[in-house]
Amino acid sequence: MDNWVLFGTRILKKQPQTQASVGPTQVKVRVTHVLLSSYDALSYTGATKVNYPKTVGRVAIGVVTDTGENCYGVSKGSRVYLNAVRPCGKCYECKSGNKGECTYPLVAGRDIDGFLRDFVVCDYSEVTVLPDSVDDMLALCIENVALAENIYDRLNLTTGSIVAIVGGGFLGSILAQIALYHKLVPIVIDNYAQNIERLQNSGIFYTFPADDNLKTNIENATSGSMCDAAIYTSNCKLTPSVPASVLARKKDMVLGGFCTVNFSMDMTPLFEKNLRIYSVSDGYGYTEAAVNMLLHGALDVSSFEKEVLKDFDPEALLSDLADKATQDSKMTVLKLIL
Ligand SMILES: [Zn+2]
Repeated sequence: MDNWVLFGTRILKKQPQTQASVGPTQVKVRVTHVLLSSYDALSYTGATKVNYPKTVGRVAIGVVTDTGENCYGVSKGSRVYLNAVRPCGKCYECKSGNKGECTYPLVAGRDIDGFLRDFVVCDYSEVTVLPDSVDDMLALCIENVALAENIYDRLNLTTGSIVAIVGGGFLGSILAQIALYHKLVPIVIDNYAQNIERLQNSGIFYTFPADDNLKTNIENATSGSMCDAAIYTSNCKLTPSVPASVLARKKDMVLGGFCTVNFSMDMTPLFEKNLRIYSVSDGYGYTEAAVNMLLHGALDVSSFEKEVLKDFDPEALLSDLADKATQDSKMTVLKLIL
């Protein structure tokens, strides 16, 4: 029984995991797949703060192997998504029975243990049952789809609005597809040729590099009106001044993503255009919505490069992922086997 625990910056150790029995409202989940994310990689390197010690792995699915007597809607054998963000249970909203509005939601891998371990025992409300038609790869995108949904909900754009997505990696690709699902017009900006090609092949019509012609390209694509909103994917390699430069006046710029590296930006364009800026760093409260959207074909991951590893060295993988451009859209999945 293995449990990969982060004890400090680049200190990841395999610990034995002891068997645990379930309480009346708890389920035991055998973890089957973990999606390695840049969030995990930046947690490993210390760029993202972690309340050590914590098991790594924010995104995972598994199979229920045991349930307490007071669990509803989930049974032995259910395929489930392990909710990555959970209510704190301590704030005023949580104590008032309004967990959906929790002030300090806890994130797996940072505030609570993540999922790179053989099994998880948790409250039955902290897992989401997966429909058969949402396959494992799609299910591992739930966290990103939920984040996208959180962003679009806040942006509250009307049909046909033009949204610039800065960074065409894994999250950027998902943001673009979810924009199409909501009948918005995505324009993806990225300098990584491989990403541009993949996006074009997956039906994203407007893709531009962030070069000297960007403003002209956006003017042409928007008939001169510029974009109605812009989402900066937080760890893309482009400068955060790009989204501000493509927006029309008085629009919203969102910093979206699960983690970020320290960056600085020139506030002048925000000031000159009277822009509003805010961040969305989780998909808390949107997990069920994300599962439903996947059920209705909102996302096609066939163009994403995938790698499923049964034999792996988590330290080497996390270190490698942290070093290379996070613009990469490859899904690296760890398949846990008995
Ligand atoms: Zn709370």
